[in-house]
Amino acid sequence: MAPPHGLLSTQVAVKGTFGPYISGILRPRMTEPGPLSEESAVDDLQTTVYAAELGWLSPVHRTWLDEVEQGRLAGLRRASDRDRFVLGTALLRCVIGDLMGGGPKLIKLDRRCLRCGAPHGAPKVIGLPGTVSVTHSGNRVLVAISENSRVGVDVEKMITRDIGEFADLVFSAEENSDVSAPEFYVAWTRKEAVLKATGDGLTRSMAEVVLGPVTERPRLRRLAGRPGWSGAIADLEVGAGYAAAVACLRPVSFGSGTEPRLRVDLAGPDRVRSLLGGRS
Ligand SMILES: [Zn+2]
Repeated sequence: MAPPHGLLSTQVAVKGTFGPYISGILRPRMTEPGPLSEESAVDDLQTTVYAAELGWLSPVHRTWLDEVEQGRLAGLRRASDRDRFVLGTALLRCVIGDLMGGGPKLIKLDRRCLRCGAPHGAPKVIGLPGTVSVTHSGNRVLVAISENSRVGVDVEKMITRDIGEFADLVFSAEENSDVSAPEFYVAWTRKEAVLKATGDGLTRSMAEVVLGPVTERPRLRRLAGRPGWSGAIADLEVGAGYAAAVACLRPVSFGSGTEPRLRVDLAGPDRVRSLLGGRS
């Protein structure tokens, strides 16, 4: 679920994809892979986010899916779910193809679920130094890639008007759950982004992710069950009616009182459309 904001990182503010943006399209530096290790714990965290609209889907995108993905597609009944899945997969494939060299069909993805082994897990790109995350809701599809952290991204279309019954599921006892609907979605996306970054996904309760006040820039206070993990979160602006956030974490502490800096580069719509229209 998700409402938009100015894209706030811990150090910089960037305007989002579907509005004016100032970050331009900065390709992640993939030539010198950053190890996900303790040595790099003091480096700034970095992620690049690509956002697309469902209207950019074209028939060729479906041909980029591999056998496993075609199988998952066949299991989706609603046309809108199918479109979101195809566009999310196509966007991931063309972004990675551009970074690694080679067309979207050549990218090898490992989608095995860490729990049951079925091919519905978070995607890992074989041969890519870094991590990726995909999310979709309404007519928005986002892909985030990070060379030097575990990245998680979440977008949500703000549809619920009465959030009262859901607040207890999202907020911990130590957080203020008396929030407006847009603020609820902001908190939701920040927390789901964190849970995707750790690999837990929604198998873990959002209430176990304890954040600073939702009205302030995102701050990760505590992550139950993941001692030592630390990182940073940024809100993303992806258009009216949506909330979105990206989290970059590492399974190492940055030291007490030290908050890592996070740089978020948001690819502009022209860049994303160009990638989606690229070679197959
Ligand atoms: Zn599973």
